[in-house]
Amino acid sequence: MTEDFRSLFVGLDAPVPLLNGQSRSYINLDNAASTPSLRAVKQAIDDFLPYYSSVHRGTGFKSQVSTHAYDQARLAVLHFLGADDHAYVCIFGKNTTEAINKLAHRFPFTAKRDVVLVSGMEHHSNDLPWRGVAKVVHVATLPDGRLDEADFDAQLAHYASRLALVAITGASNVTGLLNPAHRLAEKAHAVGAMIALDAAQLAPHRKIEMLSLDDPAHFDFVSISAHKMYAPFGSGALVARRDIFADGEPDYQGGGEVELVTLDKVVWSDPPELDEAGSPNTVGAVALAAAIRQLEAVGMDRVAAHETELTTYALTRLNKLTGITIFGDRNPQAAGQRLGVIPMNVDGMIHYLAAAILGYEFGIGVRNGCFCAHPYLLHLMGIHGDHATQVRTQILSGDRRFVPGMVRVSFGLYNTLEEIDALVEGLDCITHGTYRGKYTQVVSNGEFTPEGWNVRYEDYYQPA
Ligand code: PMP
Repeated sequence: MTEDFRSLFVGLDAPVPLLNGQSRSYINLDNAASTPSLRAVKQAIDDFLPYYSSVHRGTGFKSQVSTHAYDQARLAVLHFLGADDHAYVCIFGKNTTEAINKLAHRFPFTAKRDVVLVSGMEHHSNDLPWRGVAKVVHVATLPDGRLDEADFDAQLAHYASRLALVAITGASNVTGLLNPAHRLAEKAHAVGAMIALDAAQLAPHRKIEMLSLDDPAHFDFVSISAHKMYAPFGSGALVARRDIFADGEPDYQGGGEVELVTLDKVVWSDPPELDEAGSPNTVGAVALAAAIRQLEAVGMDRVAAHETELTTYALTRLNKLTGITIFGDRNPQAAGQRLGVIPMNVDGMIHYLAAAILGYEFGIGVRNGCFCAHPYLLHLMGIHGDHATQVRTQILSGDRRFVPGMVRVSFGLYNTLEEIDALVEGLDCITHGTYRGKYTQVVSNGEFTPEGWNVRYEDYYQPA
């Protein structure tokens, strides 16, 4: 019997239209992209807004309340990640991508320590930012998508004295596979390097412990996105070693981060203010903190247990379907060692169409495509050489109809076994070819729409 967390969320019962003219409550299986809001988050914003004002710059009462709320939000993030307030700082920003870019620009690379080890399973946001500032080495992944730890060890040994940083995801946004991040941290520290954990996927689903700096398994940097943690109000955070961010100049420069400015001199503030140029997203920070408090009240062990049940059930049912290929690990018994992110394809059908049918005919939101992890996708699908070149040529010519990709379902705290049943029903219908729509594809983006779909989106949301 699974737990029911649905009452904690906003809007889960909102009806969405189906191609057959009926409607149903939306089934959101796209939590790896973004999550719906917790009620506690909405409530926190409602409670906070009457006292919202500028932070850190005003002496007025509301400014002081807002400053207090903002500072409390930092502490909530540090607590959530098991990070000590003295050793670490919480720098707010807009998302994980911004956090990693900030770290890439602020990390103290030297001529001798200039290598970043990333893995072949990274989201582009934990790969591209490093390319401009360091020599990036990609650790291989195994055919099933797991990190090739033997290759990690070999690269680490090869670059040891040059290795500045290991930048690795806690969990893959494509396969849900977890990395042995604390073990990798120990290995990185043993050669004098640091480790940055991309926790965009991991943070909403598993307890993270940054540990203390004298523990060899600690994380030096962790980045998170609130919109994946049930707080979609435009914030994210980089939790970073205070000592590393105490030095140097901020990547963005302007107000809010200086002690003193003359016409030819600047004295920068201490972290975290030093790295938060301009007026911050206070409401977003308050929202993130409210989500964190709710997740802590539920307990991350309960979160993980519920999502493991969903994943076990989903894999068990999906494995029985014929005509579906699941990528990565498909063992239901191993569901506890990964997140509820399952990539698949309907055999003989392009991912765009399968995703469209699930959406238009079953009210199920999934993600399809390459999930901002192109190299990993091609690796999992075994596409290389001439085929890969042909795909790239087509994309560059503006024809995206045949771009390889997958359909990804990803679970959140509020999903239910019944929703997985609906997914299986939808996939079963697709594999049997009994869906009703006649779909046409757009060349430039590959997307399919069914004939006769004339829903007016403004009927569902219209600015007042
Ligand atoms: N890393 C991973 C593993 C992700 O899944 C994502 C988002 N899909 C990101 C980084 C980037 O997060 P954001 O878009 O919130 O910046």
